[in-house]
Amino acid sequence: MSAITRQMLRDYLNDALPDAELAAVEKALRESADLRALYREVIEQEDRGEHTVGAIWRRERVSCPTRDQLGGFLLGAGDPESLEYIEFHLKTIGCPSCQANLDDLRKANKPGKK
Ligand SMILES: [Zn+2]
Repeated sequence: MSAITRQMLRDYLNDALPDAELAAVEKALRESADLRALYREVIEQEDRGEHTVGAIWRRERVSCPTRDQLGGFLLGAGDPESLEYIEFHLKTIGCPSCQANLDDLRKANKPGKK
């Protein structure tokens, strides 16, 4: 895997990376404390006052959606940007703990089976 550059982090922050690179950056951020420190620097330099849910999520990073948010995702409830992020987190990143959580919620929510 190629090294994650400062420029890639900047593009990541600004949501300007293609999905494949976005996924690579996100994975690398989850795995590397050094990279997270670098990312924090990039954020400080780049602070453009973006306050959308997606931007905040990308900044705070590496956090998983809560169970409530996953439940909302199942029902298609919530703001479009956070639903989009959760879908990205589940499908592109393939976060195993969120997938397990989602399966669990899906079973719990099955209509007709109480
Ligand atoms: Zn997750």
